[in-house]
Amino acid sequence: MLLELRGLEVRYGGIRAVKGIDLAIGAGELVCLIGANGAGKSSTLRAVCGLIPAYAGAVHYDGADVAGAPVYELPRRGLVMVPEGRGIFAQLTVEENLAMGAFARDGADAASDLERQFQSFPRLKERRRQTAGTLSGGEQQMLAIGRALMARPKLLLLDEPSMGLAPLLVAKIFAIVREIAAQGVTILLVEQNARLALEVADRGYVMESGSIGLAGEARHLLADPRVREAYLGEGAT
Ligand code: ATP
Repeated sequence: MLLELRGLEVRYGGIRAVKGIDLAIGAGELVCLIGANGAGKSSTLRAVCGLIPAYAGAVHYDGADVAGAPVYELPRRGLVMVPEGRGIFAQLTVEENLAMGAFARDGADAASDLERQFQSFPRLKERRRQTAGTLSGGEQQMLAIGRALMARPKLLLLDEPSMGLAPLLVAKIFAIVREIAAQGVTILLVEQNARLALEVADRGYVMESGSIGLAGEARHLLADPRVREAYLGEGAT
């Protein structure tokens, strides 16, 4: 397994946001974590990449226990997060934002990686000298993903990439996610849009009030009446 969580617990003061979950992702898998608002999805991701400490439990990544590892250490080992709300640098240009993505690694091939991102995201190439704050929401999401790819991730954590985007752009972002996975990058995708997430993923976990309620192959979850009723907006049949 590339990533394995065992009994992961996250607390904010007295609030148990994540209540001891187990989750595993093999190399090359695209796994989604779905669930309602406030179920604990983002907290799980933040604990995996060290942005917040795990209160209890183990986070194993690429053969090592990384719970408690400094937050700057993980991108160097290929664990990279695209945060909710993108986290781009609004005052920097598109090109400078992308260059920041290569900061955590040996940047020897940064120039060719930059060209690669421009091939994948022609819109970003057109706007390479614009400040990132002037981009549309969809372009900013592409920039955030492109910047993460500059770090050459083994494991990419995506937090709500569809948030705030129009349906056409959401479809485009999901096509990009599928492409990145096809290139061999392992992905953990957190999404409120359960249907799209399950359509793109190999496997899924359903989170409810800090716990994993259901887990399995994405196509099985898509067909599961409990998922259909609670997360896909369909009445019980
Ligand atoms: P969303 O889609 O809204 O981000 P989520 O499933 O990602 O939902 P989390 O953001 O992980 O859920 O939140 C889980 C619980 O922890 C919620 O009850 C939330 O109010 C609480 N929480 C999240 N961040 C904090 C914080 N910084 N301080 C206190 N409580 C928090």
